Amino acid sequence: MKNMSAKSSQLNGQNAIKTRPVQVGRTLVGGPAFTVIAGPCAIESRSQFLETANGVKSAGATLLRGGVWKLRTSAETFQGLGAESLGFVRDVLEHTEMDLVSEITDARQIEILDDYVAMYQVGSRNMHNYALLKELGQTRKPVLIKRGFSAFIKEWIKAAEYVVKGGNENVILCERGIRTFENATRNTLDLNAVAYAKANCPYPVIVDPSHAVGIRSLIPQLALASAAVGADGIIVEVHPQPEQALSDGEQALTINDFSVMMMKLRKVLHAVDKPLNSLPNGGDL
Ligand code: PEP
Ligand code: MN
Repeated sequence: MKNMSAKSSQLNGQNAIKTRPVQVGRTLVGGPAFTVIAGPCAIESRSQFLETANGVKSAGATLLRGGVWKLRTSAETFQGLGAESLGFVRDVLEHTEMDLVSEITDARQIEILDDYVAMYQVGSRNMHNYALLKELGQTRKPVLIKRGFSAFIKEWIKAAEYVVKGGNENVILCERGIRTFENATRNTLDLNAVAYAKANCPYPVIVDPSHAVGIRSLIPQLALASAAVGADGIIVEVHPQPEQALSDGEQALTINDFSVMMMKLRKVLHAVDKPLNSLPNGGDL
C-alpha cells in the first residue's frame, strides 16, 4: 500500500522539481500567474510595431515580442531591420510601458541589444550554439531558450545549463514545435515536452503555438492546450495586417483574433486555477 501511494504521487507530479520564477522586466514568469508574450515576428516599421504593441497590451499581454534581427531559412528573405530600428523601438517601449523580448542571432549583438531587451530570445536554430549560450551566461538578463526543432527534450534542458553555468540563472524554456514525419502543419507541438520539463527542471516553461502549428486558425486551440497542460505562458505572433507581413504572415493573428483568443484563455486559466499576469495599466478585455 505504501509503495502504491509513493508511486502514484510520483505519477501525479508531486515529486516534481519546483519552478524557479524569473523576473522579466515588469513581469514575473513562472510564478503563480500565466504570462502572455505577444507581438510581431519581425519589427517592420514604427507604425506596425506601435499598433501591435497597443493592441496586444489592451488585450492582456504583458510582454512584447519582436525581432530586430531575424534568422530565416532563406538568405533571400527579410532578415530584420537591425540596429536602425532601435530608435523607434525605444519610443514604442516607452510609450506603451512594455518590456521587449527579442531574438539574439550573434553574441556581438549583446552590446547593442542590452539596453533595449528585457529578455534575450535564443531561436530554435541557435539552441545548439553553445558559444552564444556561454556569452549569455555572462549577462544577468533573462534568456528564453527555444527548443531546437530536432532536439531531444534532454538536449534542450542541457542547453539551459550552459547559461546557468556562467552564473545566469534567469533561464526560461520555450517549446515551439518539433520536426516529425507529419507535414500538414509547420511543426508538431510537443506538449509532452512541457509536462516533462516542468516536472524535471527548475526553469519556467512557455509554449510558442505560432511556430508549432504555423496556421493562423489553429493557434488559439494550441494556446489553450498549453495553459491546460501546465505551461507558465505562451509567446504568440500578432500583426495588424498579416497579409502584408514580411515574415511568418500565415501564422500571425490579427489584433482582433488575439483578443478573442485571450477571452477564451481566461476561461481555461480559471479552470486550472491560475491567474493571468497583468500590468498595472494593462488591458483586461
Ligand atoms: C521567431 O520567434 O520568430 C522564430 C524565428 O522562432 P524559432 O526560432 O522558434 O523558429
Ligand atoms: Mn516568426
